[in-house]
Order: sequence, then C-alpha cells, then structure tokens
Amino acid sequence: MSTYALDPRTTVLIGSITSGLMAMVLTLLARATPLPVPGLRTWVAGAWLVFAGMLLLGLRDWISHLATVTLGNAAFVLAYIVWLAGTRRHFGERLRWGPWLLAWLAMVAAVTWFAYGQPSYRMRLVVVAGLCCFISVHHALLLLRYPQAERFGRALGITLTTSWLAVLTTVYAARGVHAALFPQGDSGLLTQDAIQIVYTGSFTVCNLLLVIGFATMASDHVRARIEEQAIRDPLTGTLNRQALLECLGRERANHGRTGQPFCVAMLDVDHFKKINDSHGHPVGDRVLVHLCRRMAALVRPHDVVARYGGEEFVVVMPHTRLPEAALVAERILVEAVQADGLALPAFTVSIGLAEWSTGDATEQDVIARADAALYQAKARGRNRLERAALRLVNA
Ligand code: GH3
Ligand code: MG
Ligand code: MG
Repeated sequence: MSTYALDPRTTVLIGSITSGLMAMVLTLLARATPLPVPGLRTWVAGAWLVFAGMLLLGLRDWISHLATVTLGNAAFVLAYIVWLAGTRRHFGERLRWGPWLLAWLAMVAAVTWFAYGQPSYRMRLVVVAGLCCFISVHHALLLLRYPQAERFGRALGITLTTSWLAVLTTVYAARGVHAALFPQGDSGLLTQDAIQIVYTGSFTVCNLLLVIGFATMASDHVRARIEEQAIRDPLTGTLNRQALLECLGRERANHGRTGQPFCVAMLDVDHFKKINDSHGHPVGDRVLVHLCRRMAALVRPHDVVARYGGEEFVVVMPHTRLPEAALVAERILVEAVQADGLALPAFTVSIGLAEWSTGDATEQDVIARADAALYQAKARGRNRLERAALRLVNA
C-alpha cells in the first residue's frame, strides 16, 4: 500500500476537472469581452484540449489503452501547440503549423509504438516530456521577444504566462532527463511514487496557471485598447482634447519646476466648410486624416499633435521658445497641405502660435492666446502664421 496521501491518478483527475472549469471560464471570458482579443479563441480551444487530454490520461485502466495513451497524449500535446498558435495570433502573426504538426504526429506515432510495439513507459515519457519541453521553451522565448514583456505591470499577463512556461519547461526537462537516465515504474503515468506525484502535480498546476496567464493577457489587451480609445480621436488617430489638456498640464507643471519653455500652435483648416460643401463630407474627412499624417511626420519626435475639435488641431512643443516653434509651424503651414498624388482638393491652413508665459494662469490661457493669434491669421488673409505676444505678469 502506498504511503503517499496523494496519488497521480487523483492529481490528474482533479487537474482535469479544474482544467475543464478553467476552460469554461476562459470560454465565458471570450464571449463577454467588450472588444475582440486576437488569439483568445485559440487559447480557449487549447484549454479544452488540455481538459480532454488530462481526462483521458486520468482514466488509464478504465478505458482502452488506445484512448488513454495515444489519444490522451495527442490531445495534451496538441493543446500546447494550439496555445502557441494563440499567442502568435494575439500578436498578429500566424503559426507555421507544418513543422509543429509533423513533430506532433511523430510523437503520437512514437507513443503508440512504445505502448503496443515495444511497450516502454520510460520511452513514452522521454518523447512526450521532450516535445512538451521544446514547445514550452519556444513559447516562452516567443513571449520574451515582445517588448511589452519587459514592462511589468503594463503587461502582467505576458509576465505571468512567461513565468509559468519557464516553470513548465523546467518540469518537463527534469522529468525527461530523469526518465532517460534512470529506470521508471512500470505502471506508466499513474505510477505511485513521489516523482510521479510531483510531476503530475506540477504540470497540472502549471496548465491552470497558464490559462490564468492567457486570461490576464486578454484583459491587458482590452484595457490597453480601451485606454487608447479614451485618449485618441477615432477619425484621425491623433490625441483628443482630453489628452491634450493632460499633456499641457504636464508641461505647465514641468515649467513650474524647471522653467522649461513650451509653445502651443493652434491650427485651423481654411474654408473647410467649402471643401465639405463642394466635395462631400467623406472627402473632408480624408483631408483631415491626411493633414494629421503630414503633421505627425513634420513635427519633432517630442512634439504632440492633438485634435482640438472639428478641423482645429493643436501642436504642443515642449522645451521650445517662440522663434524655434515658428520654424516648425512654418514647415507645417507649407508642407502639411501638400497632397501630391492623392486625389484630394487643394487646401490651406492658418496657425496661431503662443509660448507659455508668466501671465498665463492655466492651460486654457495659453490656448486662448494661440486662438487669438489664429483669429488674426484668419483676419489677415488666411494661409499664414501669427505669433501671440508674450503675456508677462504685471510687476
Ligand atoms: P475658416 O477658414 O474661417 O476656418 O472657415 P471654415 O469653413 O473652415 O470654418 P467653419 O467653422 O465655418 O467650418 C468648419 C467646418 O468643419 C464645419 C464642419 O461641418 C466641418 N467639420 C467639423 N468636423 C468635421 C469632420 O470631422 N469631418 C468633416 N468632413 N467636416 C468636419
Ligand atoms: Mg474652425
Ligand atoms: Mg476652418
């Protein structure tokens, strides 16, 4: 009789029940997610395969050998490949299935051979643990390639998933090497010894934690998209007014601390209503999208472009005094309106420019001065730049 309180069959069967529940949770999450998450459905499929594989492995001696050894391992290992495909899809790539399916078929053939042709649990273990180890390490390295993985907290899901894959890799590597070097118990996966209990317990727990990792990656993705949507204008993809005010708030605080100057350019498309009236709203929209793309290319890397509303945009230029900002604004005035090769109507813009000065109490004050300069540019004939005078505090 065994002296162990746990036996591998219990571990695997409890693992299969919990992995079934986790698969259900992941399925519900995939249905409830407010935005589509690439790869999530594939992860769900992998979670159900783990459930099927664990259940088949746990039913050893109760169902046919073929079902438990061949199909159990086939489902179990396929789950890891499917999860890998899910991660690739999550990051907009496609898994090259060919080599993986070949490796999987070879594993299924070898396991079947070592079950019927020349029965050897030891060899089955080496083959299965070896392939699982290879897939897990490949999966972990794939995740490490994504820059998000470096930022703990912003990408908790990636960090968690990579960690569990690292543990899983270690578990399979250790078990495979042990099986290769030492004789193994003859009752297969469910052999009643400490090593098998630790082995089955470890991969069972890791599989559950991996599902949690994928669920966290999915929720990270949704959160990041929602955060992104909250600060971006849907038409042009530039920052929206809310994000602009936050950016100006940061610049103001920075100016208060360090005295660094900054400038604000307010830009408005000239006679935009006419463009809409003569060419239609969709063409007007394309003009705005084009203008934003050009502006993004023309400003310096640390400048910030935002849509203030309608056909009005604001460029925030940190660490910049008025003369230097005027150069950037002139460049926008001349080059942002060029639409060579694009079937867009000709258009011009007017710009008002202001530098944050001691008389400005709030972000709105500097915007108001840039707006007044813009008004002047309009009044003086449009397609031009006007600078606001500095507003200094009264002594
Ligand atoms: P001005 O030179 O004085 O700025 O004249 P304007 O015609 O550009 O200014 P006005 O404020 O009279 O018209 C702005 C127009 O911009 C009116 C509005 O329908 C249009 N508009 C605002 N947002 C959008 C948008 O997202 N897409 C399109 N196509 N038009 C927009
Ligand atoms: Mg306007
Ligand atoms: Mg206008």
